[in-house]
Amino acid sequence: MKAMVLKKVSPIGEKPLELEDWPIPAPGPKQILVKISACGVCHTELDEIEGRLQPRLPIILGHEIVGRVESSGPEVNKFQSGDRVGIGWINYACGKCRFCRDGNENLCSEFQGTGCHANGGYAEYTIISEDFAYPIPDRFSCSQAAPLLCAGAIGYRALKLTGLRDGQILGLFGFGASAHIVIQIVKHKYPNSKVFVFTRPRQQKHQDLAGKLGADWVGATGDTPPAKLNCAIDFTPAWKPVVEALRVLEKAGRVVINAIRKEETDKESLLKLDYPTHLWLEKELKSVANIAKSDARDFLPLAAEIPIIPEIQEFSLEEANRALTLLKQGKIQGAGVLKMPE
Ligand SMILES: [Zn+2]
Ligand SMILES: [Zn+2]
Repeated sequence: MKAMVLKKVSPIGEKPLELEDWPIPAPGPKQILVKISACGVCHTELDEIEGRLQPRLPIILGHEIVGRVESSGPEVNKFQSGDRVGIGWINYACGKCRFCRDGNENLCSEFQGTGCHANGGYAEYTIISEDFAYPIPDRFSCSQAAPLLCAGAIGYRALKLTGLRDGQILGLFGFGASAHIVIQIVKHKYPNSKVFVFTRPRQQKHQDLAGKLGADWVGATGDTPPAKLNCAIDFTPAWKPVVEALRVLEKAGRVVINAIRKEETDKESLLKLDYPTHLWLEKELKSVANIAKSDARDFLPLAAEIPIIPEIQEFSLEEANRALTLLKQGKIQGAGVLKMPE
């Protein structure tokens, strides 16, 4: 099979992914072999390629995979050949520990990430346990469904962790791929809730999109909104929005940070954390890490029902380096997706 392979950490400008011919993997017990139709291109791949995250090497990247079941190993009973399935970041968890038993496989200490610890979707085929594959609703093309498996599913989990109830006010700090999906979920599931969106100053395009998607108020981080927030999600790489979210948070409110890393350079913002202003009166701060099985499984049918149809720009598998370069430069319209030949 054709695969775009990362062998060593290097800047994306050096086109580090190499086209290689690899054997098609054989599915083991409970595993399915998936013929890949589409794989989304994500910022996490840039982190892996450029060394901010450490993948196993050599590795086939890619964790927003949609394809069809080609064949099955022994003991597979959830899928049949020809079924259309999606695969996200969660590739493996032990299934036995306390976190797995609670449905938080994302916190399992044996957690493995697709396209990081296990080979992913920048290829023609991949294998996955049937427990970590999800049916794809008919409403989506393969390319449309791919981005939902990352930005969509993690946005869904972040929203779940806020504990938002209908009628409460939610703040969104940063308005990229995940946030613009979250606002559509909120408008659908919590019709009496208000959503306040905070962007960087003068991010007119993001602010306009937020307005179009139903934001009840749009401003810049640091602005004081018309009412206090019951909960908030921070999607930014910086600390300042977290401190600001806590400042404008209602008593007993909760801020959820949806970011793998925070910029070291913005640490001085944290020093502005003032106990009476930002935390007193039972305010909470927590992070969201990866996704659990149930997040992808529950989010996909909800996205079809709303519907949330991502805007996509397609590339061929061989164009992976170019797609990632454009992603880094912020030049992709919507979400970038590698489309495999039928
Ligand atoms: Zn991703
Ligand atoms: Zn476990």
